[in-house]
Amino acid sequence: MTQLLLKKARIFDGWHADCAENMQVLVADGRIQEISQGPIKIADDARVIDASGLTLMPGMIDAHVHAFASDVAVARVEALGEAYRAAYATRMLNHALQCGFTTVRDVGGGNYSLYRALADGLIAGPRYFYAGRILSMTGGHGDMRQLEERPRYYSACACGDGPLANSFSVLADGVDECIKSAREELRQGAHCIKIMGSGGVLSPTDPIWMNQYREDEIRAIVNECTERRSYVAAHCHPASAVRRCVEYGVRSIEHGTLIDDDTAEFVARHGAFIVPTMAVCFALVETGRKLGLPSESQEKVEQIAREAISGLDRMRRAGVDVCYGTDLLGSTHVQQCREFTIRREVFSPLELLRQATSTPAEMMLMQGQIGCVAPGAHADLLLVEGDPLKDISVLAADGQFLRLIVRGGEVVKDRMS
Ligand SMILES: [Zn+2]
Repeated sequence: MTQLLLKKARIFDGWHADCAENMQVLVADGRIQEISQGPIKIADDARVIDASGLTLMPGMIDAHVHAFASDVAVARVEALGEAYRAAYATRMLNHALQCGFTTVRDVGGGNYSLYRALADGLIAGPRYFYAGRILSMTGGHGDMRQLEERPRYYSACACGDGPLANSFSVLADGVDECIKSAREELRQGAHCIKIMGSGGVLSPTDPIWMNQYREDEIRAIVNECTERRSYVAAHCHPASAVRRCVEYGVRSIEHGTLIDDDTAEFVARHGAFIVPTMAVCFALVETGRKLGLPSESQEKVEQIAREAISGLDRMRRAGVDVCYGTDLLGSTHVQQCREFTIRREVFSPLELLRQATSTPAEMMLMQGQIGCVAPGAHADLLLVEGDPLKDISVLAADGQFLRLIVRGGEVVKDRMS
């Protein structure tokens, strides 16, 4: 890989509003090697890029995606099969990269196979972290069976009482099954374990307000992850679910849509993170019906969308560490940058920039490695036209204002000449 020298750069490092000006940044072997105000010694064949007038910032992180969610209705995702899902993932991941997301965390359905395809360069996409299959209790948010379907103890097959799985979740009940499922996912390279901590939109039989999993089940899963130096992410809408999951050791709360002030404060005090997902809420409210979202899901999403913005404001006031996440499904994945546009009603540009860089990096236990411009970090970098610290809309335009995108030291978008 040829060396890359970015000169005369103004740098947003992932944390600080005061950007260093006129800096030189050397990229080699996939990493940021050196950042200096003075001249840097480079190889003869190094590429030199004049970054004057542009803002250099870390590649962004979307901490809540589903690369295989090729449709808004889970039943159709299953029916269309693996090849279709893989084709969708290819398109979705490539789009994410071109929008400036050099890292995504797939919190449901992602697997080693897709990770490996990206790592081997078979497809272009962001750095890929995955939680594997989501652990759900029977009748929980991962249980996609319709109300009228027979329970699994009537299964014709002799092995019918084993765990039930679809592309995104596995049903695990009781401490023993939870431990076994968590270990299976971790064995297959899952970077963290995701659980369904409350009811959700897409599942047909569980109400949104319902807390899911018992304390001993959640604590057992947290313990497995801690031993693996990993962590647990939990899907939670109601405040009660958020609170108990954080109390039992969950690090990353997904959605948190119906949070209240006390719970937001509790989360902040315990140093947990929340990944709100506004883009999917708004996209489904607008287009869910047209895209064939089942009617019970449509009602649920309209209910939580009404609370979504005030929930964000509660998180901001309590000082919660908030991460960028979108959770988009099917054809709505193209709205990935819209999350900025929705959140700017509540957060400042600096807060939004941190949400998409240093904060999710810390949440993912990757601090100093991704989501920052610092020596030794992965060279995931963007050169942005304009100043995102003044006007976040330059990051909300589907990559239009990104002149250069570098992922792992490799230029993946180049509009510098
Ligand atoms: Zn999700």
